[in-house]
Amino acid sequence: MTSAGRFAPSPSGELHVGNLRTAILAWLFARSSGRRFLMRVEDLDRARAGAEAEQLRDLAAIGVTWDGGVVRQTDRQPLYAEAIGRLTAAGLTYECFCTRREIQEAPSAPHAPQGAYPGTCRGLSAAELELKRAARPAAVRLRASVAEGTVRDVLHGSYTGMVDDFVLRRNDGVTAYNLAVVVDDAAQGIDQVVRGDDLLPSTPRQAYLASLLNMPVPEYAHVPLVLNADGARLAKRDGAVTLADLARAGVPVDAVRDALLASLALPEGALEQALAVFDPAALPREPWVWPGVRHGTGRRGTGRRGA
Ligand code: GLU
Repeated sequence: MTSAGRFAPSPSGELHVGNLRTAILAWLFARSSGRRFLMRVEDLDRARAGAEAEQLRDLAAIGVTWDGGVVRQTDRQPLYAEAIGRLTAAGLTYECFCTRREIQEAPSAPHAPQGAYPGTCRGLSAAELELKRAARPAAVRLRASVAEGTVRDVLHGSYTGMVDDFVLRRNDGVTAYNLAVVVDDAAQGIDQVVRGDDLLPSTPRQAYLASLLNMPVPEYAHVPLVLNADGARLAKRDGAVTLADLARAGVPVDAVRDALLASLALPEGALEQALAVFDPAALPREPWVWPGVRHGTGRRGTGRRGA
């Protein structure tokens, strides 16, 4: 299998300029390193009807192309079940009956980092298990034997973060993101993961899980997010932030793409031109503040020289 990068949007709504900027970067990282570029729709949770088609249309409109068909996580349940089955057979999972509230209120285990699962269900006896099973369905957790892990990231260098007994399958039967992403990346031959740096803290867990499953750990590049004027992560409520909103405000798609490229200190125009000069080492390391559009004028404050 030849090596590949990917973009893996969750079809919960339209992509905003921050998502599109990350997609452009993932495409540039993959193409500039001779990798294939794959598109995977992460629709296990919170999928909204119609969102996938809108997202793929918007990605194509800014010039992001992908190889082969679109892969959907909902078509891949047997792969996830197989991986959880393997871990379970090796004694590396356990059933957990805790509610979110019980987890919040539980005293944390000694020396456990904040936010780590406190281990409440780790050592249930057969009798306790039986009682709990009768009361509510179980989630499946990983039985981790480390408390932290270190990954290498192209932009962040060495990063150490928490690994706890994280959920592999929720108690409503839905496969957890951390399991699905590891299984899919390996099954698709993805050896380069480029995504927003909000996911960097999850990465040590994913790399640890990959190693337990004897799957290769990909190269990671966690790219800075786009922020709103208040310094918070850009969201739909921040005004005209999707291609459709921006088109209505008089900003054509090519102007949006150019603004995103300019924010990356890359030449404007077709993505192929940016590809010709793309150098990961020269990327801005700071988040970018979306300058917004001055409504009604069709003019934008994109931060471009001369705009
Ligand atoms: N589906 C995730 C998201 O849209 C991305 C997961 C990933 O790239 O690993 O935030």
